[in-house]
Amino acid sequence: MTRILVIGAGLGGLTLAHALVRAGLDVRVFEADDGTGERTQGYRIGLAPPAMDALRASLPPRLYDLAEATSGSLTGPGLLFDERLTLLSSDLPGPEESRAFDRQVLRQVLLGELGDRVAFGKRLKTFTDDDESVTAFFADGTSATGEVLVGADGGNSAVRRQLVPEVQLVDADLCGAMGRTPITERFRELVPGRGTMVKGPGITLMLGRMEFDREPSEAAAELVPGLSMPRRESYVRWVLLVPPATVPAREDARELVLDLIDGWHPDLRDLIGSADMSAVGRSKVFDRPMPPWPVSRVTLLGDAAHQTLASGGNGAMTAMQDAVRLSALLAEGRDLLEALEHYQHDLLERGNAAVEVGKQALRRFVPVAGEAR
Ligand SMILES: Cc1cc2nc3c(=O)[nH]c(=O)nc-3n(C[C@H](O)[C@H](O)[C@H](O)COP(=O)(O)OP(=O)(O)OC[C@H]3O[C@@H](n4cnc5c(N)ncnc54)[C@H](O)[C@@H]3O)c2cc1C
Repeated sequence: MTRILVIGAGLGGLTLAHALVRAGLDVRVFEADDGTGERTQGYRIGLAPPAMDALRASLPPRLYDLAEATSGSLTGPGLLFDERLTLLSSDLPGPEESRAFDRQVLRQVLLGELGDRVAFGKRLKTFTDDDESVTAFFADGTSATGEVLVGADGGNSAVRRQLVPEVQLVDADLCGAMGRTPITERFRELVPGRGTMVKGPGITLMLGRMEFDREPSEAAAELVPGLSMPRRESYVRWVLLVPPATVPAREDARELVLDLIDGWHPDLRDLIGSADMSAVGRSKVFDRPMPPWPVSRVTLLGDAAHQTLASGGNGAMTAMQDAVRLSALLAEGRDLLEALEHYQHDLLERGNAAVEVGKQALRRFVPVAGEAR
């Protein structure tokens, strides 16, 4: 039976693992992190209908039901305010039918039923590839051999660095300060629809609601008993896109944002001031569109192949589509290298297009040079 080694238990790698299990293929996932503790990588993501289709096609039905139950609405108008909360528009363009997911909750759902197919504390260092098999070597001194190796290890992918070394990850000259604030009636009114944008002089603050349809730990206990799930209250996620020059290294995002929005409406300042988690992150992009590489038993998936700008909001969706496509091609039973060549072709077309869409979307969020507001 084809044994597939997946490097990285992120949103794309785990979706792939489920799709492969569903197709009857043998898969093992190797994750560098020691566990599933919370990361500050964005708190919440929006998934458009093609991502929901990919999840539905990959997950066991009860896990898909849990994913849906723990998601939240992203419908209603997109609002635009100035910094004193004067309404400028209630008609901002945006996706109509997406669903909001808390990242950590979604990752717990995706880990469901994979059991010991996922190994933690396995940081890939290097791999070797010959005509018969591929072997992954990990930082803890262990190794694993299989027939295919999939680099689903994110934007700074070790697999991509070895496979396509000419592609470099570079600074996108964009910094996002972000945080999570427990929702209250007062804060809910700031984001009645799918999102709210506040444009101050030279600064854009984006607010998004993560209001769970059902509290995740309660929904999990009922729908997938035994699945580990954190208790989580609904919150407002806020993001301020800032030029990196304004951000000292390791600055607390809340303090940084409060400084930048001095004089803004008290509701906005209180929202930021009562954040329970905050972080600053720099956006990275590849220095060129991903080129084809010689087809072998090693391939890429998700951000490892197409690092989209966070603000583009389509990276997870694209990774999940990659997963569905790759598992379908591997399950067809055709010649392995032919299947991987086919996949690479699709991946590059879809991935490079998604990166472009992400760049275009950025113009909606950050002021373009010379525009005051
Ligand atoms: C702030 C922000 C907001 C975003 N919002 C959205 C959104 O609304 N909608 C959307 O579709 N996308 C969004 N994205 C993009 C989305 O998060 C990514 O595109 C998506 O997570 C990519 O999935 P992935 O599986 O390729 O990588 P990841 O989810 O990053 O997973 C990679 C995994 O590989 C592991 N790993 C790394 N190196 C190694 C190694 N050497 N060995 C073993 N394991 C390793 C990592 O620990 C991680 O678990 C956002 C991104 C950011 C930063």
